[in-house]
Amino acid sequence: MEVKGITREKTLEEFLRTSKKKSKTGIIQAQISSAAKEEYLFTWTGHPFTDAGLVALLLLSGKKRPEELTEEDIKNAIEFASELYSRKKWSSGYIHAMMLPNSGILMANPSMTKKRTPDTIKAKLFSLLSEPEDPNAPVCEICGRRHARPKPVYRSDFPLVGTGGVPNYFPSGKDGANICSHCLFLAQMMPLAAYRLSRVLVIHAYPYELMLEFHKEAIDDVKKTELASVARNFKRPENFLFEKLMDIGTKLEMGRLENASITLYYFVNNNQGQEIEPIYIPNPILRFVAFAARVDRKGWMNIVSMGWRKKPREEEFDEFKKRYPNNVYSKLLSGESILYYFIDPQNRRANSSWRLLSFYCSEVLGLDKEALEFIKGVADRIVETVEKLPDNKLSRRVRELEKAGKLYQFEGFFIRVEKDRQEFGIPEALMSFNDFARILTSYGEDLNVSWKTVKNLLLFRIYERLHDRLMKASEEAGESEEVEEEFEEGGEE
Ligand SMILES: [Zn+2]
Repeated sequence: MEVKGITREKTLEEFLRTSKKKSKTGIIQAQISSAAKEEYLFTWTGHPFTDAGLVALLLLSGKKRPEELTEEDIKNAIEFASELYSRKKWSSGYIHAMMLPNSGILMANPSMTKKRTPDTIKAKLFSLLSEPEDPNAPVCEICGRRHARPKPVYRSDFPLVGTGGVPNYFPSGKDGANICSHCLFLAQMMPLAAYRLSRVLVIHAYPYELMLEFHKEAIDDVKKTELASVARNFKRPENFLFEKLMDIGTKLEMGRLENASITLYYFVNNNQGQEIEPIYIPNPILRFVAFAARVDRKGWMNIVSMGWRKKPREEEFDEFKKRYPNNVYSKLLSGESILYYFIDPQNRRANSSWRLLSFYCSEVLGLDKEALEFIKGVADRIVETVEKLPDNKLSRRVRELEKAGKLYQFEGFFIRVEKDRQEFGIPEALMSFNDFARILTSYGEDLNVSWKTVKNLLLFRIYERLHDRLMKASEEAGESEEVEEEFEEGGEE
């Protein structure tokens, strides 16, 4: 899906035209890379670390595209970075401790403390950009536009690529990586744009411009506090991401997320350990959360609140959001259904608007709209029937549906509602035989749309329409706690 919007650096035809002229590969490579260099200094590569560095350059310069960057912009960014990097809080406290241990380029190596000044760091960064290319060196493994540095790059200068005989995250499993001086330069800018949680967080996005939106806060924080951004004190990367999606989703037109994809890279690279956890956010999830941000923020908050073991009080919500793992987030990220969280069985309440539920069902669960409307119609006929019952009986009838943990119990509920219908003399049956078969069997084998999905959708609609009467009845009977226990057993999908 994402492939559609990717632009190529060079069409195949152009490539062949350039290649035909020379026969020696070395010359061709030199030619290609010098041609590319003439166009502009930096480009998006798809590598999270160099792209994060580019994000820092762009955001500091107020530019949107790499080709807009001027020499002046780069000079200013280097000065800005060198000033901060020479300070202890950045150098030993962040760069050496979490990202580039013993870095010689950024002089974070503890042995360099005395010589470390903004000017010495600045000189090292500038020298990277004027480093001559060796045409005999292999092509850079990240950008493919330049020749790599003659010597392999180690994890002290580029995160997670291993060091002297200890390979890390790196396909060829060899010692160090072939990286060009420009990609290396970009990696040195990454500390400015990254978020500092208990590890380092880079939010890599496609289209790349989207990455600017997700990292703007980091640069703003750095400008304001002169320290690395701590992501509003969020302790978990996925929680932070969902929060940012809510902020950004409110502003974004839905169309801009059509082909978007996001991967979080949560890593640490120091002398004690080198680890990375990539967290991929599927596109339908991005669009769903952005949609929630626009149409039903309250509903989304209700849903998220159900995802913690203990439901937070209103004043605790903020702390929970930053600190604790949430089942709604983790299920969304692992492709499991969160339909169960759209209803609050304890309070017999629908947590969101039907509109948000409908978007979730069609865009994330892949349920077709017609099926959803069909189920809604059945739920409305159930409501039309059971609302004629006195409060206590109404509550009991709905309880039968809530408690149905086995298919035969679910069937039994329909039969009883059908009988209610006949007793009240409501014309037309609740469902035709075909409807009945459809609701019980055609979805039966589908994991996403099992009868439990149908059950949760029916309950959503029933709660939505009968919440007040149901609550009144369960309060009178003093039975709300019992519901929750019994419901959870069978209700979880
Ligand atoms: Zn490169």
